[in-house]
Amino acid sequence: MTINENMLQIRQRINAACQRAGRNPATVQLMAVSKTKPATMVQEAVNAGQLLFGENYVQEARDKIPLVHGEKITWHLIGPLQRNKVKTAVTLFSMIHTVDSLELAQEINRRTEHPMPVLLEVNMGREPQKHGFLPEEVEQILPLLATMPGIQVQGLMAIPPLVADAETSRPYFRALSTLAARLNSMNLNAVSMTELSMGMSHDFEVAVEEGATIVRVGSALFGARG
Ligand SMILES: *Cc1c(COP(=O)(O)O)cnc(C)c1O
Repeated sequence: MTINENMLQIRQRINAACQRAGRNPATVQLMAVSKTKPATMVQEAVNAGQLLFGENYVQEARDKIPLVHGEKITWHLIGPLQRNKVKTAVTLFSMIHTVDSLELAQEINRRTEHPMPVLLEVNMGREPQKHGFLPEEVEQILPLLATMPGIQVQGLMAIPPLVADAETSRPYFRALSTLAARLNSMNLNAVSMTELSMGMSHDFEVAVEEGATIVRVGSALFGARG
């Protein structure tokens, strides 16, 4: 299968999930996760109409982005961000999905020259080895983030515990969506949780059924990573 064929199929599966959930497919963005994949493959996806890409590593993105050509292409950071890479990251990416500590938010706020759209990564499975705020921490920290002019919190992101069965992810997706609604009801200035970044190759349809606005799909689009 070509990237173009994979993409068509993934979009069809997203559309079908939207239909099951009574959602408008225009409210779901497909992000192509291109980590470890060469610029030539990204270009192939661009040529097939894909515009939103996710990268995990600042250095890799810095090398790759100039090699990809097209209008209206946007790049989001979906990997952990070290504080010494923030200055570069805020110039490369139009959104950072992985704000997972107050210190990182403060550093972004300090380094950016424009309000930076971010998502707060939430450790829904409470896994000790995973990045992200615990759900109750997000509620505590949000009022503080809302006061930072360089930070524009636009939603939540989660990577639930990795299991083969997509249905196992459903309660985590549902809980993330519920958490976003609760945070919205806090009515904080400058905070509107409209984006839910959730779902990957193995479980994006379930994520769409549970309200995802951005699904992050890598291997189903570009093939397995080496
Ligand atoms: C790699 C990665 C993805 C894509 O994973 P696939 O299983 O290849 O679709 C999505 N989100 C994050 C945060 C990733 O690191």
